[in-house]
Amino acid sequence: MSVLYKRVALIGLGLIAGSMSHAMRRAGLAKEVVGTARSAATRAEAREIGLCDRIVETAAEAVQGADLVVIATPVGVMGAVAAQIAPHLAPGATLTDVGSVKRRVIDEIAPHVPPGVHFVPGHPLAGTEHSGPNSGFAELFENRWCLLIADERTDAAALSRLSRLWQGMGARTEVMDADHHDLVLAVTSHTPHLIAYTMVGVADDLGRVTDSEVIKYSAAGFRDFTRIAASDPTMWRDVFLTNREATLEILGRFTEELFALQRAIRTGDGDHLFDYFTRTRAIRRGIIEAGQDTAAPDFGRGAARKETGT
Ligand code: NAP
Repeated sequence: MSVLYKRVALIGLGLIAGSMSHAMRRAGLAKEVVGTARSAATRAEAREIGLCDRIVETAAEAVQGADLVVIATPVGVMGAVAAQIAPHLAPGATLTDVGSVKRRVIDEIAPHVPPGVHFVPGHPLAGTEHSGPNSGFAELFENRWCLLIADERTDAAALSRLSRLWQGMGARTEVMDADHHDLVLAVTSHTPHLIAYTMVGVADDLGRVTDSEVIKYSAAGFRDFTRIAASDPTMWRDVFLTNREATLEILGRFTEELFALQRAIRTGDGDHLFDYFTRTRAIRRGIIEAGQDTAAPDFGRGAARKETGT
């Protein structure tokens, strides 16, 4: 793969930006990768592990002369970051983000984008429960989707180059509308995370009563919940606050179905339970057939780096 950008600026140096830096450098997709983060401690850690070609103190400095700028902070501060960097963006540059929510992020970033800068929002559907500059790795995006958001105003050349960047990092790309993205992610990621958080909270209450039995006898399903529920609190708080409508819509539907199952258990309606579980089993088969997972017990992801995605 040939060089796609002369200088890529990464704002925020956590799991996603760190993995992008590793993946871009491995594939030679950028001549130079410049990074910055909010705290001196994170910048020092990134410098120490050689995460980027250069680590600079401020976002304004990082974007100087960059032909691609990636905002990779929690979604709640992306608008403020955009306001900060706007006067320093190079004409013709592409500005993107990796936020897990799209409509709110677009509404908050777009007003700051100067004319001549091409804004192409993105979201890689890949992640782990780890965060910080040390958590990134080059293979994170391999065979995962990266959704890019476009409408009739999107610059076609900027979109195409950014798609090629993600493909060069191993991802598959698809273009989607922001509202559709938020609804799909509320179903596939945001609400399931909330359920995992709740289940771990419930078990924790029980655990106190039964003297840590919950951890001692924790089967794989519950252990997976605890892994998901270990995801970064700032990131997930922001996800729910910024994807409120879609998450509430899906949670409403979830609650209705849960009540129906609760009623079936209470009334001994085995047919209802059997039919329901047969339907959900078929969905699982569909995921495997679509190549998005495997039937292996660890879901084919290897023991060390299990994914949560968003
Ligand atoms: P992370 O590991 O927690 O890192 C966040 C980074 O943002 C840190 O370097 C932090 O710096 C920096 N930051 C926070 N506020 C900042 C500010 N105002 N200015 C500059 N830097 C700032 O986060 P992550 O998991 O990479 O997530 C980053 C984004 O990717 C989020 O928007 C998230 O929704 C999205 N995403 C995450 C996943 C996932 O599974 N993790 C998957 C797909 C997309 P300090 O360390 O100095 O605070």
